[in-house]
Amino acid sequence: MRLLLMGPPGAGKGTQATVIAERFAVPAISTGDIFRTNVAQQTALGVAAQTYMDAGEYVPDEITNAMVADRLAEHDCADGFLLDGYPRTPQQVVELDEILAIAGVGLDAVVLLEADPDELVSRLVGRSAEQGRADDTEPVIRRRLEVYAAETGPLADIYAERDLLTTVDGLGQVDEVTERILAALTSVSAQRTATSAP
Ligand code: ADP
Repeated sequence: MRLLLMGPPGAGKGTQATVIAERFAVPAISTGDIFRTNVAQQTALGVAAQTYMDAGEYVPDEITNAMVADRLAEHDCADGFLLDGYPRTPQQVVELDEILAIAGVGLDAVVLLEADPDELVSRLVGRSAEQGRADDTEPVIRRRLEVYAAETGPLADIYAERDLLTTVDGLGQVDEVTERILAALTSVSAQRTATSAP
């Protein structure tokens, strides 16, 4: 299974990515988590990414793309993966297409987790108290939502045109949302089997 999980900040991508990846026995790869680990360890990558992250801006494509290319080349990704938070820009879509084309594989599905913008802000403000993320202050949260709407939201159309997109309501209990995603993926794979049958 090769999956993408897309959606605005606060939609619950990270939580769902872990559960869904476990179900399909593939690694969950979160670009945000990889960047945060690098920031915490003050690696060269972390130092390069930190100012962008703290401001709610995207880390430049060349940095992000190189990091993802390295990660996807690792052995545990050979039979599948779930990417959480990548691609987020048109250039990242191009990079991922190239990585997959070279490997001779394709995506199975793209899940878009949707949620109401007011709900997103209140979830993120709530989370900041628990997790202490540097980018969970209200002005930075608003900037992250703006950047998402301008740069990443439109990418859903690309995957819809490729017939890979499935949209899931991210509101509700974690378990309910997981069930919705699994149901959507089951119906996607059932349709694939039906259309590819002789
Ligand atoms: P969220 O989706 O809630 O904003 P993430 O943990 O996915 O949180 O990302 C945190 C930050 O890491 C982003 O605001 C951005 O600075 C950086 N980042 C993560 N993924 C990418 C990406 N694909 N391209 C550029 N920057 C990224």
